[in-house]
Amino acid sequence: MSAWTVFVDFDGTITDVDTFDVLVRHFAGPQAWAQTEIGLDDGTTSLRDVLQRQASYVRAPYDDVAALLRREVTVDPSFAPFVAECRLRRIPITVLSSGIAPIVADRLARIGCGDVPIIANDVDTRLTGWTIRFRDAVGNGTDKAAIVRTARAAGRATVFVGDGRSDYAAALEADRRFAKSGHNLQRFLSARGSAYEAFASFADVRAALFAPPGVTTECTGYDLATSRLARSCPEDMSLRIAIGDP
Ligand SMILES: [Mg+2]
Repeated sequence: MSAWTVFVDFDGTITDVDTFDVLVRHFAGPQAWAQTEIGLDDGTTSLRDVLQRQASYVRAPYDDVAALLRREVTVDPSFAPFVAECRLRRIPITVLSSGIAPIVADRLARIGCGDVPIIANDVDTRLTGWTIRFRDAVGNGTDKAAIVRTARAAGRATVFVGDGRSDYAAALEADRRFAKSGHNLQRFLSARGSAYEAFASFADVRAALFAPPGVTTECTGYDLATSRLARSCPEDMSLRIAIGDP
């Protein structure tokens, strides 16, 4: 088994927009959405509290909400090929989300990535307003940093890919970190002078991890029908991986 393991955020990282941004704007309007975010920037409100406030606006059956999100939220088309290449190289990949596990699972299943492990929160979908059942007693609701730390303590070298506030601590724990261009995580890491690699899509992450300049990757030919890469790859990525500054 490879010594490397990859952790990936969901909302805004695999998708183009945040799930709860879409839901609150839909169910309560843009003004309500702005209200729910007050206090996040100065730290007087936790992300967990914001998410719960946002979830309380969602007053519809789960299936209707999932259908809405399929229409309004786009999954990065280069994510499935990235997963396929990780698999081919026997590099574990896990999605870590402060959002809701069934929603993440729905989107991953629809791109042929239904077997990717997901660590996220659960939800009660009462029609009087949804309630998130947070998995961890931390401000982010999901303790992504602890999960990355545990992997490192077990001897794994870690890659973290994210975009937002819920990724700050986890990214700092990782050996190599990717921050979505123009999003909060990039601003956070830049401000503290921490090393990171910017990305716009998983095609960039894949190229950075697996296709060094001047070396043509052997892993090409993603087959949408089978969700597999057509050609075999080396089983590790030692060629390309370099541990980032801690
Ligand atoms: Mg995110």
